Amino acid sequence: MAVEDVRYAPETCAHCEGAGTSYCDKKGKVLVRQPSRTCHHCDGDGCIYCGFTGWEGLMAKYPSCTW
Ligand SMILES: [Zn+2]
Ligand SMILES: [Zn+2]
Repeated sequence: MAVEDVRYAPETCAHCEGAGTSYCDKKGKVLVRQPSRTCHHCDGDGCIYCGFTGWEGLMAKYPSCTW
């Protein structure tokens, strides 16, 4: 079985633009699967599909999110 090489990198939370909210665990950044892509539902503005972070492929917090 091949090891899935999935990389994540911190991206600035679109909801608070780095200020830190409950959506990004008050870090201002969220871990996003690379290559990072803005949420196609909201174009990076933030919606329920991306947990209001504006990004697709969020790590762990929203594992049920499909592309
Ligand atoms: Zn935030
Ligand atoms: Zn969205």
